[in-house]
Amino acid sequence: MTITSTRESELLATIPTGLLINGQWRDASDGGTFDVLDPATGEKLATLASATSADAMAALDAADAVQASWARTAPRTRAEILRRAFDLVTARADDFALLMSLEMGKPVPEARGEVTYGAEFLRWFSEETVRDYGRYLTTPEGKNKIIVQTKPVGPCLLITPWNFPLAMATRKVAPAIAAGCTMVLKPAKLTPLTSQLFAQVMLEAGLPAGVLNVVSSASASKISGPLMQDDRLRKVSFTGSTAVGKMLMKDAADKVLRTSMELGGNAPFLVFEDADLDAAVEGAMAAKMRNMGEACTAANRFLVHESVAEEFTAKFAAAMGALKVGRGTDPETNVGPLIDSGARDDVHALVAAAVEAGAVAVTGGAPVQGPGYFYAPTVLANVANDAAILGQEIFGPVAPVTTFRDEAHAIELANASEYGLASYIYSRDHNRLFRVAEQIEFGLVGFNAGVISNAAAPFGGVKQSGLGREGGAEGLAEYTTTQYIGIADP
Ligand code: NAD
Repeated sequence: MTITSTRESELLATIPTGLLINGQWRDASDGGTFDVLDPATGEKLATLASATSADAMAALDAADAVQASWARTAPRTRAEILRRAFDLVTARADDFALLMSLEMGKPVPEARGEVTYGAEFLRWFSEETVRDYGRYLTTPEGKNKIIVQTKPVGPCLLITPWNFPLAMATRKVAPAIAAGCTMVLKPAKLTPLTSQLFAQVMLEAGLPAGVLNVVSSASASKISGPLMQDDRLRKVSFTGSTAVGKMLMKDAADKVLRTSMELGGNAPFLVFEDADLDAAVEGAMAAKMRNMGEACTAANRFLVHESVAEEFTAKFAAAMGALKVGRGTDPETNVGPLIDSGARDDVHALVAAAVEAGAVAVTGGAPVQGPGYFYAPTVLANVANDAAILGQEIFGPVAPVTTFRDEAHAIELANASEYGLASYIYSRDHNRLFRVAEQIEFGLVGFNAGVISNAAAPFGGVKQSGLGREGGAEGLAEYTTTQYIGIADP
């Protein structure tokens, strides 16, 4: 299948190409545009309006103008909009999946999985909208009363990455709607088409003009810079790299903006000597290869007990070596391209340095020649504990395996990272699973599970993986503030 397939061009022709400001799709104020490319071929998929700082301010004007009335809408009204959005996204799952595969590269069945996961935030928060409880209590001194009520935090800037184009948007937009916040969404410039379609669906679901504004742009800082200096903006929720997150946190300090930061990860995948090794390999494949390894939750370091490392590595390498690399729209494909040539160069530099330092590529180890940014699924054995590849996000289909001596050593290695997002533990001993979970510093822990994200659970990290949580009741709290009313002896 190529870009000229009728189904693909018909779908692309329906995607709005403008900026969504106050319920209208419009061109950029300076007429500027940018192209969106297919990472499997390098060919152009679409040309979108590129928002300027003036457009960003117009989007904030729109969000601010409706904030007060939106905050007063009945929770049931907001819940019903979210529920209709869930139904519409689900009904158009094939369109969303194909679009994500085209702009991001992931295989269509995997993109379908992201639609299920991403849509679930709409349904979960639709159900949470009417359960935003406050409290009423007597003061400890016994006379006066306390009322605590929640309020929407106010207009929010939502910045999303390219790797999960739908789920990263719904994970922010749904709780913001539930809480009664208005929004300016800035999708990643590499994969903005899914957000364009999603915004169109939100309008169809009945979201009033101005509540959700979408400003894709070739220049992210032209959007975030002026908005974060404006007193009307009350929150920035960012998912992306730790480096950009740190810059935004510094900018947020100027106006003491609320922030939620979902940043990078360096997930350890621990395999103990008592693990079911076949289940561990299956989990490893999911934890490593979902999204071609381009996930903040991707298993980045395989820490295996020395007594089972050889067997685990052999089985894992056999499974990785059997994967078929290709364009995400090809039904045979298991592994799509990386997002761009720079991403592929970075992955290969880490692999080359590890091999230079003595690691062995049991399978893979090189880019795939030809058009597109493909990299062979790779398993590296004999990786030294201090290798650079274990210290940073790989963001590609590469699995370095290293060994540990005992439980204490495994915990020490797992915690030896500035990141603390996802982690995975394989063992048949439930006491051990809980004991290790107590001692490792990660926001998410999978017990004998390679995929753990769920809309009903609080997703987020510790250390330099970020601040705040998305999903679950915690995800709604990110978009509310409390107001306390003290009542004198009634
Ligand atoms: P990125 O930091 O380069 O970009 C993320 C977003 O920030 C994009 O929309 C981008 O346009 C914007 N941006 C870039 N520079 C900016 C600036 N100076 N000011 C304002 N906005 C700016 O990250 P990415 O490459 O798109 O995504 C990959 C990263 O995201 C990885 O580190 C991954 O771990 C992380 N991630 C984290 C989570 C999580 O939930 N913790 C989820 C997915 C991805």
